[in-house]
Amino acid sequence: MKKTGSKKPRISKSKNDIEKIRHSLSHLLAAAVLQIYPNAKLGIGPTIENGFYYDFDFGKNKIDESVLPKLEKIMKDLIGRNLKFKRANVSYAQAKKIFKNQPYKLELIEEFKKQKKPLTIYKTLDGQKEIFVDLCAGPHINSTKVIDKEAFKLEKLAGAYWKGDEKNAMLTRIYGLAFYTKNELDNYLRLIEESKKRDHRIIGQQMDLFSFQEEFGPGLVYWHPKGGLMRVLMENFWREAHLKNGYGIVFTPHIGKSDLWKISGHLSFYRENMYSPMKIDEDEYYIKPMNCPFHIQIYKSRTRSYRDLPLRWAELGTVYRYEKAGVLHGLLRVRGFTQDDAHLICTPEQMPSEIKKVLNFSLYILRSFGFNDFSIYLSTKPKDAIGATKHWNEATHALERAIQTSKLPYKIDKGGGAFYGPKIDIKVKDALGREWQCSTIQFDFNMPEKFQMKYTDKNGKQQQPYMIHRALMGSLERFFGALIENYAGAFPFWLMPTQIKLLPVTDKFSPFAYQIKEKLENENFRVDVDDSNGTISKRIRNAEVEKIPYIIVLGQKELESGKLPLRERGSKEIRFISLKDFIELCRNQIPKPQKIQ
Ligand SMILES: [Zn+2]
Ligand SMILES: [Zn+2]
Repeated sequence: MKKTGSKKPRISKSKNDIEKIRHSLSHLLAAAVLQIYPNAKLGIGPTIENGFYYDFDFGKNKIDESVLPKLEKIMKDLIGRNLKFKRANVSYAQAKKIFKNQPYKLELIEEFKKQKKPLTIYKTLDGQKEIFVDLCAGPHINSTKVIDKEAFKLEKLAGAYWKGDEKNAMLTRIYGLAFYTKNELDNYLRLIEESKKRDHRIIGQQMDLFSFQEEFGPGLVYWHPKGGLMRVLMENFWREAHLKNGYGIVFTPHIGKSDLWKISGHLSFYRENMYSPMKIDEDEYYIKPMNCPFHIQIYKSRTRSYRDLPLRWAELGTVYRYEKAGVLHGLLRVRGFTQDDAHLICTPEQMPSEIKKVLNFSLYILRSFGFNDFSIYLSTKPKDAIGATKHWNEATHALERAIQTSKLPYKIDKGGGAFYGPKIDIKVKDALGREWQCSTIQFDFNMPEKFQMKYTDKNGKQQQPYMIHRALMGSLERFFGALIENYAGAFPFWLMPTQIKLLPVTDKFSPFAYQIKEKLENENFRVDVDDSNGTISKRIRNAEVEKIPYIIVLGQKELESGKLPLRERGSKEIRFISLKDFIELCRNQIPKPQKIQ
């Protein structure tokens, strides 16, 4: 999640400085804890996004969140004393002496000793007096003077295993938030509050969109009929857009023999993300973590000439990947998901225009779902890469040129590419300014080589094609989660399970409502009539809670005049509209698949 920045920072500083402030606050937290619990044992205290934490072993002392304000108060006092941070190099023997009552620190010292890493400590000084010392590589601020006392807050407690290993002791982690200014902290706290209200797991439950059945397997999504309907709408749009843009749609098996995964290399470099094999006859089969090897087999099913290229094959391919139970998170991190996958196979000459097309297509798809704020990242060649430097340069250049033509700002992640090729990542910003990773356009110099993919060029010679993997929404599950949180359930008209609600004032007008419903349904809109017993204002209220885009109340006046009183979602006003104009209004909100250049 991206942090919000205050518009006018009090002091303009680099990222490095806020890291130093956060890390120094973690030391002050530990110092404060030792003031209340002198026997507490210290784990580690690093910075994290938006703040810091420190792990403690409180032994027999039971602590709860009521300790946080007390600790905050002590930390504020410490900050006000303009404490200094001072670094020193120490020998292993010296360090062992300093931390003789700190078993976790002693363990770290032993480790560093084994790795022959030099040790440094940071002392926190009140004048000449040392009030705290930590085993630490730094860096730290020089003085607590630069910390704004009002710009940090101890956030919460959590259990955390020492070194993240469940075989180790469970420590108590205290989390803190820290920014330059109080304004930034307040903005962040507001963002957290707002994010909680938009949590896709809660909205998904309220709107009956999907569920997880933990007892029958965590991280596996059950799409309920309303969520299923939305998925169909997403998929239909996706398919039509792909067909319109020169893609072939393919379907491939969910499992494949071990030989396939050996050739692709997945059984070596991707093994830990794959599930155990199942035995069928005498062979071992694996459930697919990726669709690529299957698409390559389709390519290899016949001889290919340069005239056949480029090939663009897309599949809504359901894959299964192992994720640790602890990192699973609603729809955002699951064990089974459907990628909106595609592979582009082309000649080197076709590559630049293919890249440009696929980038524009990607932006078009994301915009169709209402995302308009993008950040683009270009990841370049890492140290350990395969493939010729010449090819890397060509590919990276083509990716960068395509981004430049899109006129969108981008950042270069130098050396951040996969070992088999450079890539573009597109993140979208949601209504709260949070970033969501969606599209990836990934070059691959590895698979064509491993599978010996060939085509015959103009001169009758065998050549290896270029191959590009791409997913635009990423996975349908994750993208759906992002949509829910972006819209807080108030989806665009074309995606809403129920688009229009008709409310007859009394039973007398029910037949009139059903007549209109039929007319709207003939236009393929999804319409409900609520002629239940409640008062009209109660029924309007219910429809509003359901975030229905259009609510229409029907009575005598409407029957006579033929004008419909339209209540639009989010607006208090009522406007009168003819049925014909209303149908037109609705039609205009359905995205039509376009051909993108
Ligand atoms: Zn430190
Ligand atoms: Zn792929």
